Amino acid sequence: MSHKAVIIRGDGTGPELCEAVLKVIDASGAKIAWSDAEAGEKPLQRGEPVVPDKTIEIIKKTKIALKGPMTTPVGKGSVSANVTLRKKLDLFACVRPIWTLPGVETPFKDLNIVIFRENTEDLYAQIEYMATADVALALKVISKSGSRRIIEAAFEYARANGRKKVAAVHKANIMKISDGLFLQTAREIAEKYPEIEFGDYIVDNFCMQLVTRWKQFDVVVMPNLYGDIASDLAAGMMGGLGVAPGANFGRDCAVFEAVHGSAPKYAGLNRVNPTALLLSGVLMLRHLKETQAADRIEQALYRVLREGQARTYDLGGTTGTQEFAQAIIAKMS
Ligand code: NAD
Repeated sequence: MSHKAVIIRGDGTGPELCEAVLKVIDASGAKIAWSDAEAGEKPLQRGEPVVPDKTIEIIKKTKIALKGPMTTPVGKGSVSANVTLRKKLDLFACVRPIWTLPGVETPFKDLNIVIFRENTEDLYAQIEYMATADVALALKVISKSGSRRIIEAAFEYARANGRKKVAAVHKANIMKISDGLFLQTAREIAEKYPEIEFGDYIVDNFCMQLVTRWKQFDVVVMPNLYGDIASDLAAGMMGGLGVAPGANFGRDCAVFEAVHGSAPKYAGLNRVNPTALLLSGVLMLRHLKETQAADRIEQALYRVLREGQARTYDLGGTTGTQEFAQAIIAKMS
């Protein structure tokens, strides 16, 4: 069966990463009819919105997209293309699995954690302003309904995948009302899943325990900002941004993307690691029930990583982005 999916190639290193990943997906036997759509710097430079309406429309119609990273200027300029896309498609659940990859040396053995990050609220409401010439204010938005749907998604995932524990991460000791609401909601939902052990951690303590006692964590759910930061920390534990995949789910659409950004200093150099975006593509194939193609890619990638002859710079080698993709294709059986 053939599937339709949208590809957004993105900014910086996005286009070269997408080129490499599409070749591998194509070689896996999965039949995907790709439609290109734009978001990020290119439409912005033409004076269009950072996420054009036609991009939103085609994803709503197709329901599936694979996305390269997009650049957001720091401290000035346009709103984030990523945040805009997630909000316009109501992709409320950002799911970032962290596990030990064969052949990728890290001090963190036997990692197996899935992070659920709320994707539409919190400080990413992007409501900030100068209250006086001296004081900038930013609004942290946490709603009961927004908390409920991400926490339920984490519990449902745990139940469907035989996971034993869900932990909620918060800072309710300081933000008693906003993070307090998130925690209270988590406690209420946990009662409906008696077979799943529930715990909660204050975010600073969570970060410390993540790098000292990572094996105690299973599924973890948190508001947007903590999820953004903690999932990059967890990506580092997995082997770096070059290998950590992710997915954004709404009720209707799903957009798959790596945890990392556009790494602009490497743009056009054929150096960055396509593994993170490729594993995001594998998550997409599993979502489409293309299990055989997903398994083929994963096994070929694992063989390449284990053998270690082809490695991109971040994993200590000199192999280029496209050559790394070719090495994976060569190992497919
Ligand atoms: P980044 O993730 O782009 O890069 C940080 C560093 O991580 C890079 O310099 C590089 O050393 C390494 N790295 C990242 N991806 C890699 C890969 N595939 N292979 C090997 N090494 C890799 O973070 P940044 O420099 O803070 O952000 C650059 C831009 O990306 C910013 O505009 C930011 O807003 C944006 N961003 C986008 C997304 C997204 O599209 N989802 C996510 C995060 C950041």
